[in-house]
Amino acid sequence: MEKRFSGKGVLVTGAGSGIGRAIAVRFAREDAMVGVNYHQNTEGAKKTLEMIVAEGGEGMLLPADVRQSRAVEDMVDTLVEKFRSLDVLVNNSGIGSSTSPDRVHEISEEDWDRVMAVNLKGCMLTSKAVLKYFMKQRSGSIINISSIRGLLGNPVLASYCASKGGEVTLTKEMALDYASYNIRVNCICPGFIDTEMFRVYLSKQEDPRGARDTFSKMALLDRIGRPEEIASVCAFLASDAASFITGVALPVDGGYTANGVREIQ
Ligand code: NAD
Repeated sequence: MEKRFSGKGVLVTGAGSGIGRAIAVRFAREDAMVGVNYHQNTEGAKKTLEMIVAEGGEGMLLPADVRQSRAVEDMVDTLVEKFRSLDVLVNNSGIGSSTSPDRVHEISEEDWDRVMAVNLKGCMLTSKAVLKYFMKQRSGSIINISSIRGLLGNPVLASYCASKGGEVTLTKEMALDYASYNIRVNCICPGFIDTEMFRVYLSKQEDPRGARDTFSKMALLDRIGRPEEIASVCAFLASDAASFITGVALPVDGGYTANGVREIQ
């Protein structure tokens, strides 16, 4: 595997599981020094760090709730102090609504605020904290992990869709504000990817096994994606191979969004 990130510091939020873990390990494999952010999920974050070390990589655990500006600023300062380098931020942490049905006439204000705070405010706060360094060094790459739900509506996912749509437009807005600083801001919109979040979502369907088959068929490639397939695109967008790409929202969805709503036979 190429070593495109030797000597580079990378921060991945929500890296204790799923897509975030795969991204953290991918960057480590390519020789980056990786900050493994997590909130509460200590065991998961330790596992990610073990995987990084097993790859011969360097990493550090960085507990912080991305909703808390002070904690986020301290986390970023700690990373820079240790690695002496910060080049890539991946805003990956995210949640769905869990305590009330995610439809506007039913959702509680608390649930709405929680989803918006983790998914959208967290993305803004962490970006703000790294921009302090990126603007000074006049380089950097920010990659937001949004969702196909940031591009399309989906029944009973009001707060999630709104927060992910916000990430898409925040990406484009930030690309405009920071291009003159040589800072690129891009966004990945994953389709259905086999992680804990996806399994929880499936378990809420009437027929989880049937739903899995249906979701697979919704992708033109007729399957659920793997976290590593998001990680490889993330590494590409952060690399010099993508040096002329900024402000994009790239679906990585097996073709799900290519065909609008696909007839499922
Ligand atoms: P996941 O639940 O495994 O990962 C989410 C991570 O965010 C967890 O590790 C969690 O601990 C962390 N997190 C939650 N609240 C946090 C907070 N306040 N501060 C810091 N970290 C926090 O699920 P995943 O599928 O790996 O999701 C990763 C990202 O990908 C999310 O933003 C999600 O919306 C997005 N996504 C996932 C899918 C999918 O099908 N799995 C599809 C589209 C988009």
